[in-house]
Amino acid sequence: MTEPQRSPTWSRRDFLATGAAVIGGAGTASQRRQTATPLLKAAINGSRQAGSHPALPVTPEDCARDAAAVVRAGAGAIHVHVRGADGGQSIAPTDVARTLQAMRAAAPGTLVGISTTFQIVGDAARRHAIVGEWTVLPDFTSVNFNEEGAVALAELLISRGVGIEAGLFDAAAARACVDGGLATRCLRLMLEPRGATVQDRLRNVAEMEAVLDASGTRIPRLLHGSADAAWPLIDEAARRGYQTRAGLEDTLVLPDGTTARDNAQIVAEAARRIAAARGA
Ligand SMILES: [Zn+2]
Repeated sequence: MTEPQRSPTWSRRDFLATGAAVIGGAGTASQRRQTATPLLKAAINGSRQAGSHPALPVTPEDCARDAAAVVRAGAGAIHVHVRGADGGQSIAPTDVARTLQAMRAAAPGTLVGISTTFQIVGDAARRHAIVGEWTVLPDFTSVNFNEEGAVALAELLISRGVGIEAGLFDAAAARACVDGGLATRCLRLMLEPRGATVQDRLRNVAEMEAVLDASGTRIPRLLHGSADAAWPLIDEAARRGYQTRAGLEDTLVLPDGTTARDNAQIVAEAARRIAAARGA
């Protein structure tokens, strides 16, 4: 079996050293600046249907173009939902390899993560087996802890040297992450609160954080929302000094409600708001 390919800039130790991939040591100058400013990650497509926004990246070439553009706009890492030839979501090894190789060529040194959300395959055992067959590895992978098989999947990925973003929707997911022993071993804890209003979501965040705080974990936290909550939670993350994310996965519009031109415009606006909140 050939050794899986990984990003040339980062060693296995970097990925596993609790957030060090964005905070310290190796990497490009733009990544070292993350020491001062919490990570802004670009979430460039999500599960949106191809064509749902004119600039939604779907093909490896689209994703490569946007990778370069969002890094120029201020993103320090990128999260992508890999697509197959039909434009639908995929975690098939060939699709993962094609997308990662294209994005890395376009944005060398930038950490790229992919989604493993349950709905892509719809079967925990099959998902686990497919991830085990990846030949080109992402730098990090989001794993949703409300999903069947999450802890085993996270363990498999860590054993392959891939960082884990723990996707947490509610206190039960936070509990599953803590009880599974992952709250102190993942790259970041991603707070993705649900709720009808921003206030509801922030209550949900408080419930998740009560569980995390009780565990004593010091892993960096990323806070983000979607749709109407996308921009308020970017602002909230900026106020708290948390990592956050921005892009067409979470919103198609700018804070004033106008349709965004593309991922780069959303990321640039998020970077501007984070800088403003930090008094930069
Ligand atoms: Zn996603």
